[in-house]
Amino acid sequence: MSDCVFCKIVARQIPATVVHEDEHTLAFMDIGQVNPGHVLVAVKKHADNVFALDDAQAAAVFRAAARVSRAIRDAFSPQGLSIYQANGSVAGQTVFHFHLHLLPRHEGDGMELTWPVKNPAREKLLEYAEKIKAKLG
Ligand code: AMP
Ligand code: ZN
Repeated sequence: MSDCVFCKIVARQIPATVVHEDEHTLAFMDIGQVNPGHVLVAVKKHADNVFALDDAQAAAVFRAAARVSRAIRDAFSPQGLSIYQANGSVAGQTVFHFHLHLLPRHEGDGMELTWPVKNPAREKLLEYAEKIKAKLG
């Protein structure tokens, strides 16, 4: 995609601070650095979001994420690490080329995610599960 910023990073048309690269993924420092050591793992071949990943990309992304997460842990000794990934602007996605965030976490770092649980009855869970299973085939 010619106007995609992450495609341009993958093609080395614009600079990025790369930490890891393999056949399917490129991991580089997020320019915003919510906390020091904040890395993005992006697919090399353009995919808008999680729905567009093929199996090889999906597998490679999490393999790279786990590997880079261990390096972030060893390098920055965070108290925790959040993996964050957004699909669609309503979900908070701002760059429409699949990537996930590896975000080292510290007590009181100001990172927040509200989690408005509904705790539905078990029948509802079964109903929702059946809808998903019908589409998994
Ligand atoms: P998201 O909201 O998940 O789509 O996050 C997009 C992320 O990409 C943000 O955290 C930005 O700071 C980051 N970002 C945008 N442009 C660049 C860039 N040129 N190099 C590195 N990170 C970038
Ligand atoms: Zn792209």
